Amino acid sequence: MTAFPDANILYVDLNEKKIYRDKLPGNIYRLYPGGSSLGLYLALHNLKIGIDPLSPDNPLVFSVSAVTGLPISGITRMNVSCKSPLTGGIGDSQSGGFFPVHLKFNKIDAIVVRGKSEKPVYLFIDGDSAELRDASMLWGKVTGESEKIIKEDLNREDVEIAQIGPAGENLVKYACIINMCNRANGRNGMGAVMGSKNLKAIVVAKGKSIKPVKSDEFFSLSKSVMKRLDKNVTASNLGMYGTDADLESYSNEGFLPTKNWTRGYFPEGANNITGTTMHRTILKARDTCFSCTVRCKRVVEVPGMVDPLYGGPEYETVATFGSYCGITSIEYVSLANQLCNMYGLDTISCGATIAFAMELYEKGIIDDEVTDGIKLNFGNAEALPILIKKIAIKDGFGKLLAEGSYRYAEMLGKDAIDLTVTVKKQELPAHMPQYKPSLGLIYAVNPFGADHQSSEHDFALVMPENTMERKRLSMIGINKGCDDLFTMDENKVKFALETQKFYSVLDTLCLCQFVWGPSWQLYGPDDIVELCKTGIGWKTSINELMQIGERRINMMRAYNAKEGFTKADDTLPVKMFEPLKGGPADGAVLDKQAHEQAKELYYDLAGWDRKTGNPKQSTLTKLSLQWLI
Ligand code: SF4
Repeated sequence: MTAFPDANILYVDLNEKKIYRDKLPGNIYRLYPGGSSLGLYLALHNLKIGIDPLSPDNPLVFSVSAVTGLPISGITRMNVSCKSPLTGGIGDSQSGGFFPVHLKFNKIDAIVVRGKSEKPVYLFIDGDSAELRDASMLWGKVTGESEKIIKEDLNREDVEIAQIGPAGENLVKYACIINMCNRANGRNGMGAVMGSKNLKAIVVAKGKSIKPVKSDEFFSLSKSVMKRLDKNVTASNLGMYGTDADLESYSNEGFLPTKNWTRGYFPEGANNITGTTMHRTILKARDTCFSCTVRCKRVVEVPGMVDPLYGGPEYETVATFGSYCGITSIEYVSLANQLCNMYGLDTISCGATIAFAMELYEKGIIDDEVTDGIKLNFGNAEALPILIKKIAIKDGFGKLLAEGSYRYAEMLGKDAIDLTVTVKKQELPAHMPQYKPSLGLIYAVNPFGADHQSSEHDFALVMPENTMERKRLSMIGINKGCDDLFTMDENKVKFALETQKFYSVLDTLCLCQFVWGPSWQLYGPDDIVELCKTGIGWKTSINELMQIGERRINMMRAYNAKEGFTKADDTLPVKMFEPLKGGPADGAVLDKQAHEQAKELYYDLAGWDRKTGNPKQSTLTKLSLQWLI
């Protein structure tokens, strides 16, 4: 077996105010080679069953990967793992930017934070030194202010900062962790867990870069990115117009979730909020992550209203605050994005929870007395900034919405629950299972709630056989295509599962899914093998990588099983099975019977028990996960 590097772990005990380093031996690290896999391995060895996610007992793990920091596009993601206060199961969340590589440049593969500090602190890492510093002066401050104060406190500019805003301090269930003031570990409420520990920020000094072990071959791979970008229309459009590039065409086709998923089209507003309009009107610059040529990140400015410091909205943000809420103003959507980045809120859960409240209001389930006098009709853009701030500081009606749409609905009763669009209590991202049934399957079974970046979307399978997409899918065992997008047969189930394993590899190696992937992306599965070999001397194979991806999914499911999750938690919201009305989406519906059959087949193929939906012992053993039995 090729020698694999040891992982460098920094342990931070906030109860005892102790910090120490340890190593995870290379033979174990190779099974969990970074990101989500490493984070889960470290979290689950420290996580007691049944604990309150907001108690000091919940370990919070930040992790990068064995290949993080190599100079190539799409290589700078960071994972955060812990028990989620939003779902009650395992939490898992990724972000990009520059913070992740600087962790690695300080020779850290993961940070495990345990306990709770008596008073607010921040962790400062500079090479071999790591210290806890007083953060009392930062408490209550938004991210932009905190970033400025931290740099003054340290008297240095050459630092990267991952932090929480007031929402995390106030334990909002979907608070996030923000770095660069505009990159988020958004999902699953990781910011609330950080807030529960009185840990305001982690600050890393900029460190020394890493060199690949076989530099000629490595740079030949990394330099090929420009040629690949020239040939790849999807990726170059993504770079030019951002992730929001196609929002208007989604509406025209009928699969843009609109007005809390009561419609699939948004003719009155899609053109105003789509990526090309953003590009033409308020875009100030295209931004990027470490070493990435694609430059898909947005920086927008609306003088007197939206500050470029807080970046610009992604597709999910534009959809949740835009079409979900019936808002037609890109300026207000950008302001909502800014406020979430300032206060540290997940834009998907926040926008979707407000959209849900708007439907409650329109249907007369709640009124002005409940909403603190806010007229919460769909389309009321001015309500967004007021509500976002109220949620972050848990003021009045904001305190109810800070629980997320599902928990708030539980307080109101069944009629309200039927209007929620959540899985495992987490709000759905803006891709419709009515059009993407394999994605619907992954939404249901994914251990940390519905996620649009945990498998390849159905479109890849309807591409002609000789395309790059189909050739890459065949590398991971998907050899057959499909003529009809809406089909949910055995081949589609296999496609869902195998691409889920592959995306799980990406979240392990902390690779950006817009650059590395199993179909349309710039680099395919074979390129990842080459990256590992030329970057760190790891002679791996697609098979080994796929098993790593499978191991990660099973770790999460095995933990959830211990927390009492069963197949009953793999349930899509009722709205998915009610035909949409009007426009190009008229009549579109997810076939319930086909969906349920697909789920059973998925359990079989995954080696999970059909009765419980949980991994069989034989599956865990096959994946070297006996320690979880
Ligand atoms: S494609 Fe976009 S999100 Fe991904 S690494 Fe590049 S700039 Fe960052």
